[in-house]
Amino acid sequence: MTCREAESLVIPFIHYELDDETAEEFLEHIDGCAGCREELEIYYTVEEGIRQLDDEIGTSNIKGAMETDLRETRQRLYSIRIFNGIRYAADTLAALGLAAMLILQLRLWWQGGIF
Ligand SMILES: [Zn+2]
Repeated sequence: MTCREAESLVIPFIHYELDDETAEEFLEHIDGCAGCREELEIYYTVEEGIRQLDDEIGTSNIKGAMETDLRETRQRLYSIRIFNGIRYAADTLAALGLAAMLILQLRLWWQGGIF
């Protein structure tokens, strides 16, 4: 992902509008690019500041809120990846089991003289 792409995703990211794959690529870029991370911090501060004014929460720890948001998004993406891995393994096992059953059944038929 280029800086230009990442910058265009800052606002959608803050508004939780990115799909999982894009969010993951975005976070990867943010981790390795100080410039875009700063961009995110600036926009996050502004957006969060406005939101807190609207909600009349008063000023709280905005940078902390951003860190929490980033951490939660990472954890969610990580859980999805683990889940997909398990599902893939289960699908593979199920397919292998089906193939084994078919072969055994064919052998039974063979032994029974059907073929
Ligand atoms: Zn960048």
